[in-house]
Amino acid sequence: MTVLAKIARSGLDLLYPRDCLVTGEPVEDDSPCRYLSHRGIKDVFLVKEPCCPTCGFPFFGELLASRVCPHCRELEPAFRHGRTLMLARDAGRTIVHELKYHQGRYLLPDIRALLRGETVFCEYLAHTVLVPVPLHARRLRERGFNQSLLLAKAFAAEANGARVEELLQRVRDTQTQTRLNRKQREENMRGAFAMKNGKVAEPQKRYVLVDDVFTTGATLNACARALRRGGAERIDVATLAHG
Ligand SMILES: [Zn+2]
Repeated sequence: MTVLAKIARSGLDLLYPRDCLVTGEPVEDDSPCRYLSHRGIKDVFLVKEPCCPTCGFPFFGELLASRVCPHCRELEPAFRHGRTLMLARDAGRTIVHELKYHQGRYLLPDIRALLRGETVFCEYLAHTVLVPVPLHARRLRERGFNQSLLLAKAFAAEANGARVEELLQRVRDTQTQTRLNRKQREENMRGAFAMKNGKVAEPQKRYVLVDDVFTTGATLNACARALRRGGAERIDVATLAHG
């Protein structure tokens, strides 16, 4: 680290106390993350193989026998494969929540630090076009940023030859999905996305839709359909967390 960077960093440390987001304890100097201590990082459930090829949920414990993913049983995916970096539980849930609702942009370098250890996930993203799930203009004004775009940029920075293209737009403002079931979510998302004006997708390119959380897959499905209408044929998805 350069002297200037060190000064800038200590200045930031005064502005934002560097306690671990998960454990509350001070973050050690040798932690690869700025806001996660070693113990905090251990609490993040980073998904390893074997996992569901459609949503990325890990096959562990009792699922190993049947290999039927409970999250995808009723999903008719409009995309091919899916991967998730972490599970949206415990520390993972805290990270997702902080990023989405608490202006958690400061966590992006830490997400990148976590990504650097996950070579399988990064290889999955390599040489792809990362397409963030768009926010409706009204929601974007309220929040000030699209967390999926920030994540896509973080993914692109750690994956070889990947780049971000904002190909989609949200043409219909949708109600919040937290209290909706799978069928209601599918209905809620119908016609919510379209290609941005003047944008086209190319059939030979591999596109990876990026969202913060995989819940029922309804949002990603709607985006995949819009991307397909725009000319894409090879569409996969990647999320920060699976919840
Ligand atoms: Zn699945």
